[in-house]
Amino acid sequence: MNVLVVNCGSSSLKYQLIDMKGEVVLAKGLVERIGIEGSILTQKVEGREKYIIKQPMANHKEAIKLVLGALVDSTNGVIKDMSEISAVGHRVVHGGEKYSNSVLIDDEVMKALDECSKLAPLHNPPNITGINACKELMPTTPMVAVFDTAFHQTIPEYAYIYPLPYELYTEHGIRKYGFHGTSHRYVASKVAELMNDDLKNLKVITCHLGNGASIAAIKDGKSIETSMGFTPLEGIAMGTRSGSIDPAIVTFLMKELNYSIDEVNDVINKKSGVYGISGVSSDFRDIEDAAWKEDNKRAELALDVFHYKVKKFIGSYAAVMNGVDCVVFTAGLGENSPETREAICEGLDYLGIKLDKEKNKVRGKAVEISVEGSKVKVFVIPTDEELMIARDVKELVK
Ligand code: ADP
Repeated sequence: MNVLVVNCGSSSLKYQLIDMKGEVVLAKGLVERIGIEGSILTQKVEGREKYIIKQPMANHKEAIKLVLGALVDSTNGVIKDMSEISAVGHRVVHGGEKYSNSVLIDDEVMKALDECSKLAPLHNPPNITGINACKELMPTTPMVAVFDTAFHQTIPEYAYIYPLPYELYTEHGIRKYGFHGTSHRYVASKVAELMNDDLKNLKVITCHLGNGASIAAIKDGKSIETSMGFTPLEGIAMGTRSGSIDPAIVTFLMKELNYSIDEVNDVINKKSGVYGISGVSSDFRDIEDAAWKEDNKRAELALDVFHYKVKKFIGSYAAVMNGVDCVVFTAGLGENSPETREAICEGLDYLGIKLDKEKNKVRGKAVEISVEGSKVKVFVIPTDEELMIARDVKELVK
């Protein structure tokens, strides 16, 4: 069974074709600049040169048509024809309160996704566009929606309700939803496998540290708390996002400094985080270079702030779960920066977290990095949201 996994952004589209027998990635690719000048598709197949198509793509339907063409291409493709794609899995950012699991897409689901768009105006509309485009081109192929929010639907009410007038929740859906759920779910299931235990027996803290970053507390196999909230802005400081700040800063900026709504949005989403503090970059590699090679004090401060925020969440999630058995680092930074992991884990020995500095010198591999006998085990686990999506599709379609 081959599953096509599609992740549509506003002007980009990532895809993977996965053969579920052995969970092998047959091809993966990226389409960029959809609807703008310079549209380009890049497809990678293990052991082959990259296949690049540069041609105008006015919209997502044209982009997906090209993706399908690239997959069945007689020299650069990996399948003979489209009938070899058994099903399609779509990453959808927001499923609101309606979806706590992945779901086969029908008209009712499409309506619900549309309703969720007001909660994720930047993300859900391109996801919906992608689904519609695939439905037009593959009308008989089953499609599944896999939501970033779904895994966190098990968070208890006292943890997801904001201390605001209750009607804002009942009438406008203002509550914590949480994001990166597919990634947290994937690494949690993987850590249980590595610990040779059932996830239901473990208290796990998963740290998804990439450009966007979030942390989750997983107990009895369920997410019971996560750092992102109503939107993916809450929580720890990120590449360019502020994370949690005193909400009065927003009104101060508007009242005292005359910021418009758009300007405030721009500042807290695109000009803050480690980029805002360092003034260097949103990319942690650049900030680490500036801090350690150029002795840039603001870059150092940005890293200190980031590590401190993550550490605080780990401590509070240990409290929330009444203990912790393992901590997992994943995503771009979590998988690739030993220095970040060391800085975060430093001083957490009272919790029983003891990192092995030698084992920690690892990038992008699923391994334990805590010392032999550490009460809390620490792991690096590369995330694989596409595989998780494909597994859900297989489960639902069979
Ligand atoms: P997203 O999917 O949210 O865009 P990723 O999970 O791809 O983010 O992570 C991107 C981040 O990971 C970037 O800030 C990048 O600097 C960081 N990163 C990737 N590789 C390394 C590395 N070797 N050392 C430090 N940071 C890294």
